[in-house]
Amino acid sequence: MQEGKIMKALSGYYYVKSGSGTYRCRGRGLFRKQNITPLVGDDVVFETVGNEEGYIKEIKERKNELVRPPVANIDQVLLVFSATHPVFKPVLLDRFLTVVESKGILPVILFTKIDLLTEEEKEKIDGYMKDYREIGYTVIAASPKKNIGIGEILPLLEGKTSVVAGQSGVGKSTLLNCLRPDLRLETNEISRHLGRGKHTTRHVELLEVGGGLLADTPGFSSLDLQDIEEEELSACFPEMRRLMDSCKFRGCLHVKEPRCAVKEALENGEIKDYRYEHYLEFLEEIKERKMRL
Ligand code: GDP
Ligand code: ZN
Repeated sequence: MQEGKIMKALSGYYYVKSGSGTYRCRGRGLFRKQNITPLVGDDVVFETVGNEEGYIKEIKERKNELVRPPVANIDQVLLVFSATHPVFKPVLLDRFLTVVESKGILPVILFTKIDLLTEEEKEKIDGYMKDYREIGYTVIAASPKKNIGIGEILPLLEGKTSVVAGQSGVGKSTLLNCLRPDLRLETNEISRHLGRGKHTTRHVELLEVGGGLLADTPGFSSLDLQDIEEEELSACFPEMRRLMDSCKFRGCLHVKEPRCAVKEALENGEIKDYRYEHYLEFLEEIKERKMRL
């Protein structure tokens, strides 16, 4: 028996990498035994048959899993946002951050297209970068197209399994191509030239980049807050999470409750107005959803 990680799934085979090589494995009987289907990213115990083939015998407990891309045991999500074209919207970043935080995955904020910024825009983005760094996030400004800032991204991947996420057109494929030039993913630019839509289905594969693993397919199609409860929302905002035990009321939602540490921090300017406004907006959305149920 050996232990390894599923790097790729294709036509009923799982490609499991262990210390001694990559084995093409079947997962027969696993569903019956463990009631789960193997996912890329799963840590497994397998039995080898010859030098290249094997059978997966057991899937180790998953830390988490994503639906899109279908990957298990993710440590980190690189949230790609264009600094401009389209214009940066903090509310969208906060929504992404909330969803990623709620899954217990570490977010990294990555601004792209910084080569296109005007002086005025640059000042604004610098301000946001400062804000998010103060909250505790790692924030990087890069231009994958011009190969700027890539050297800062690579060390962040070390020892982790990461996924890239963000809206269409922000530069995710360009970034992946930059990190792994051998990939040659189709970017929006290329697909436009060829006159075809972009989303040809790909099979997700974990690539070895910068001493870590990176999913070759960007993810997070859905950004709804449906799995988050009202009481859990403030824990998705690190600057509020830190204050949770300081509020007078247990289960304080930081809206109208007296002696609320979050409201105090807001008045002191320790919590940014726009972050708090987004918190309220998301809270409202979660409440409305509950009422509809
Ligand atoms: P995706 O939909 O997120 O995968 O975005 P793409 O990687 O396909 O990029 C969308 C468009 O933005 C393409 O035309 C890219 O060439 C362009 N692009 C991506 N990154 C940069 C960048 O850093 N600077 C500039 N100027 N353009 C970029
Ligand atoms: Zn409170």
